[in-house]
Amino acid sequence: MLASSTSTPITAIAGIDVWDGISHLGPTDLRWEVSASDAVIAQVSPSDAPSGDGLTLIPGLIDTHVHLIGNASSTRSDFLTWPLVTRPEEQVLHGLAHAQQALAVGITTLRDLSADDVQFSLGRGIDKGLVEGPRILSHGMVSMTGGHGDMFVPPGVDPSLRKPTADGPDACRALVRTWARAGASGIKIATSGGLLSDGDKPSWRNHTRAEIDAIVDEAHALGMLVAAHAHTREGIRIALDSGADSIEHATDMTDELASAIAAAGVPIAPTLLINDAIAERRVPVSDEQAASAADLVRSRDERFAAAAAAGVDFVLGTDANGFHVGFGDQLSEVRKMAELFGWSAERTLQAATSRAAAAVGRADSLGRIAPGAVADFVIVRGRPWEDIADLEPSNIVAVVSRGRVVAGALPA
Ligand SMILES: [Zn+2]
Repeated sequence: MLASSTSTPITAIAGIDVWDGISHLGPTDLRWEVSASDAVIAQVSPSDAPSGDGLTLIPGLIDTHVHLIGNASSTRSDFLTWPLVTRPEEQVLHGLAHAQQALAVGITTLRDLSADDVQFSLGRGIDKGLVEGPRILSHGMVSMTGGHGDMFVPPGVDPSLRKPTADGPDACRALVRTWARAGASGIKIATSGGLLSDGDKPSWRNHTRAEIDAIVDEAHALGMLVAAHAHTREGIRIALDSGADSIEHATDMTDELASAIAAAGVPIAPTLLINDAIAERRVPVSDEQAASAADLVRSRDERFAAAAAAGVDFVLGTDANGFHVGFGDQLSEVRKMAELFGWSAERTLQAATSRAAAAVGRADSLGRIAPGAVADFVIVRGRPWEDIADLEPSNIVAVVSRGRVVAGALPA
């Protein structure tokens, strides 16, 4: 099946059954070109030499919502305290371990939604080929004092350890600019409180409308997407009206909001497993966290199914942080999406590839098997676009990132 010798990097596969991120192509000859920093697909053409080995090829998956920095070792630690007692140099290594865990199951792009210099450095190191890892897109958080982002650091902590916050439209613009200068690819805001942050309440308003408008305007002016965290109805409405580019969680979405979101074409990261894990206390959480989550997920499943039927563009976004949801759990989340939304396997797989790529503003280069797209793909045993149950870690035969095999082995 392989078209080149073992002494030079493999840059072609002949006769493999391809699903291209949107639909099934059938037996295909694939060729890609490797440059110093990346690899681009050069040829995708029908093959008259189908392999018949039952292996198929799909684009690398994209998780649009993760938090890479957390304890990746097996040593027990407290979720909120670990980042405060671990040096940034060491945090990079834990982030790399998480990134590589996801890469091993075929997640070739991760978007970190509360990034700072640690994630920017990690992403650059991977981009430069120093270490193997997925593509990392990083959004810097613009939180108000006492907002969802700020509440991850408990009040008694030395102020020098707090993340930056911004109050007032001018300060909000300045923080967006600071993130742009540091290398962020986007901005994260919260339009409601959250579940995991200490003492936070989902019902709290986060930022005034004037502040949110300033953030969105400044981010867009600097070519950055805005991802808006929102659990409550009010928060979801504000996120939608403010022109945010994606809504994260949208847990309490009503039918009316779902119609408006579908009409606007704004993608939603449903973060199903993490909210279930907290509500069902599958991980150590406080009584307050479990009660808040249980409250939010109680009627979520029915409303999300209706929202999917109404055409809401749910994309893969797990909120994986290595504590509540692991970095190899993305495939479980995809299968859960199919079940909860009542989607076909193909529609579900689009949400983890081409549609996730569009959600992160990279429709032209990610999540597709097409000339000009990057050479990020996964070779799978089975046909996951026909049966989503085939999308399972033990069926992953090889993961190719930037044109190079980073897990498993290409079929001989
Ligand atoms: Zn998150």
